[in-house]
Amino acid sequence: MGKRTPKPEWFVCETCGKQTRALRRDVLDEHYNALGKTPLWNCEECYQQKRRERLSQPDSPDPSS
Ligand SMILES: [Zn+2]
Repeated sequence: MGKRTPKPEWFVCETCGKQTRALRRDVLDEHYNALGKTPLWNCEECYQQKRRERLSQPDSPDPSS
């Protein structure tokens, strides 16, 4: 008998490779063709950084034009 202690799950950030307990899913180019994009799993730091970078940019240029 005895309780099973659940193993803490560790995830690896796909951007910096750091191990973290909580990942955030970040989909690039969420405004178009998001369904075809592979979501990236980022640690909190990378997620915030990418978010800041994205917000600091004006309307992103369209690469397909
Ligand atoms: Zn990271």
